Amino acid sequence: MKEKNKFLSKTPYRIKRYYGYVIATIIALTLPFITIGSHHMFLLSFDKKQLHLLGTAFDMQELYLMPFLLMLLFLGIFAATSLGGRAWCGWACPQTIFRVIFRDLIESKLLGLKRIKNKQKEPDWSKATNASKKVIAIIIWSCLSLLVASNFMWYFIPPEDFFNYISNPSEHMFLIGIVLTIAGFLIYDVVMLKEDFCIYVCPYSRVQSVLYDDDTYQAIYSTNRGGEIYNGDKEKIIFKAKDLPNPNNECTTCESCVTVCPTHIDIRKGLQLECINCLECVDACTTVMGKLGKPSLVQWSSTNAIKKDIPTKMIRKSTIMYAVALLLVVALLFVMGSKKEYMLLNINKTTQLYSIKEGNVVRNNFVLLFQNTEDKPLTYELEVVGNKDIEIKRFKPFTLNPGKLVKKVMVLETNKVLVNDLTKDTPLKVTLRAYAIEDPKRVSVLRQAVFIYPRADKLK
Ligand code: SF4
Ligand code: SF4
Repeated sequence: MKEKNKFLSKTPYRIKRYYGYVIATIIALTLPFITIGSHHMFLLSFDKKQLHLLGTAFDMQELYLMPFLLMLLFLGIFAATSLGGRAWCGWACPQTIFRVIFRDLIESKLLGLKRIKNKQKEPDWSKATNASKKVIAIIIWSCLSLLVASNFMWYFIPPEDFFNYISNPSEHMFLIGIVLTIAGFLIYDVVMLKEDFCIYVCPYSRVQSVLYDDDTYQAIYSTNRGGEIYNGDKEKIIFKAKDLPNPNNECTTCESCVTVCPTHIDIRKGLQLECINCLECVDACTTVMGKLGKPSLVQWSSTNAIKKDIPTKMIRKSTIMYAVALLLVVALLFVMGSKKEYMLLNINKTTQLYSIKEGNVVRNNFVLLFQNTEDKPLTYELEVVGNKDIEIKRFKPFTLNPGKLVKKVMVLETNKVLVNDLTKDTPLKVTLRAYAIEDPKRVSVLRQAVFIYPRADKLK
């Protein structure tokens, strides 16, 4: 058997991408099922009004972590773009994965409607067999769309509740409507909209070009080796290899890199918004040039390496800035996450400022809102911290079930003369500690309340 040369024996990027897609799909499908203790790895539950992150539950009032998570996401995508171009689009974006499943797996591999190497050629739709194959492809994708839509919902409704709800469809028509709407959009998107979604709808394609520099990795055609196929106005000037200006130019003008492109562009024209960095053109040219014993004319490389023959710098100003920003956000995320409180308590004063009882006893009333954010019933107690002159007159420990909220009235009282001011009432800060008797170290919060002490002439 003829041995493949070093260019042809390399694993194509397409196969590497498939591995990436399998891993991404497994993660997306299994993540909603992974729990640590009684909390999920990731869940944004509207139902329970909670964010679960790495097994810790954050209540809606604690969503101060969300901006950091969003910053992490955007900075991560920007950093990845600066380094590897639209690597996200070609290698991990659900839209690309869905299109590969529909176009390359179902239409091409399973039903033989198209060829992976020629995405431009449409089958002859006047043939009944092709039309029926298309219907079968849409039916298969519709079933998968329902799975994808359900999988999406599991990040907002825990799978255990989701299956419970849909086993009772008449009571959960809203949920079923959402799943069907998402599935319907996915069918339209993948079957009709196709890569136009990446080109016209996705905002990322618009911003990516400003994140590029000459060291960014991207699919890039070597005009030095292959020859200029387009002129300065981006008009195609070379159609046949014999017309190439320089006899050393290597492009065979076979157009394999063009027909394989899912976004229907010609990479020889230079960087284009439509390119999703799938690297199918690199694979295509590797096959063509590899047979001639030469490296591909289209490489996953940088402008510096291909056009200026200078090594690509991975560590440069922009990547250092992204790395610093990412580290900063991660550090902030940990700091903020470590400040998490395991119960919620809001303290509000009632409209009456104070009351004065027999013997110049001054009382202030407060309304306390407790929420048990843990997953077991807890009994809450309250104490004044560092102030012997003010004491809690009215508050009894009580038990609250998981997730429940309750309002309680608390009265603070003093029989001491705390201030002697004839001109005005005086606000005094009082620190209160609320805690769960079952776990006083962990489930414990400190809050400040303002105790209003009356003007001296109001006391007898
Ligand atoms: S030019 Fe087309 S085939 Fe090549 S990486 Fe871009 S999108 Fe993929
Ligand atoms: S696949 Fe390679 S040789 Fe063929 S047209 Fe594209 S760049 Fe030229």
